Amino acid sequence: MINLTKSQPPPASLAHQKQLLSGTYRQQDVYDRLRTDFHDKCYLCEYKSTSINIEHFKPHKGVDRDLEFDWDNLFLACGHCNLSKGAKYDTILDCTNPSHRILDWIHFKGDPFPKSVVVIKNINDTHNPLINNTVELLNLVYEGNTPGKKIESEMIKDALCEELYKFLITVRSFYESGRSASEKESLRAEIRRFLSPETIFTAFKRWLIKDNVRMLKDFGDLL
Ligand SMILES: [Zn+2]
Repeated sequence: MINLTKSQPPPASLAHQKQLLSGTYRQQDVYDRLRTDFHDKCYLCEYKSTSINIEHFKPHKGVDRDLEFDWDNLFLACGHCNLSKGAKYDTILDCTNPSHRILDWIHFKGDPFPKSVVVIKNINDTHNPLINNTVELLNLVYEGNTPGKKIESEMIKDALCEELYKFLITVRSFYESGRSASEKESLRAEIRRFLSPETIFTAFKRWLIKDNVRMLKDFGDLL
């Protein structure tokens, strides 16, 4: 999970659909805008899955039409995370709220190999329920709590390991001796791309940099 920006104004269809008895927020312009704003990935697990859901950040419970059609309340999530969140986690950090500083408050740790447990921790205020609920949900997303969910979590972690491995290979390449200035420049551009919000599992890659004094010195400006 990283901070993302929701574009404004809301997609045009939402206000119109809200007025219709059988109106729905599942409109093409809503999907298109969410895919752009969320970089085509689930805001919780940061993986680009084929099971894309429009999630209501605050549940509308089938009765609250304001929440159901509120653009600020619509998020892009994968089926796995949407189900994991359910109704239990309706008070978590809002990644589209810039004052909720996700990567300053939550530590993400994953290893490129062997595939292991992902560790996500509250490193800010341990009495803040918003942070605690978010950490609990994210750990659930990456570990699963039912046989079916555990299989999905393992698939997400397979992709996480692969991405972290590719990222670290590129970073290692940057530090190899004998690199010319132009080679370093192009590797640095590649590292910048790996750390950008457009790519999968950005939170884990940024924390790999933040956790290493030398890499933070060399690539801190890319975070
Ligand atoms: Zn997800």
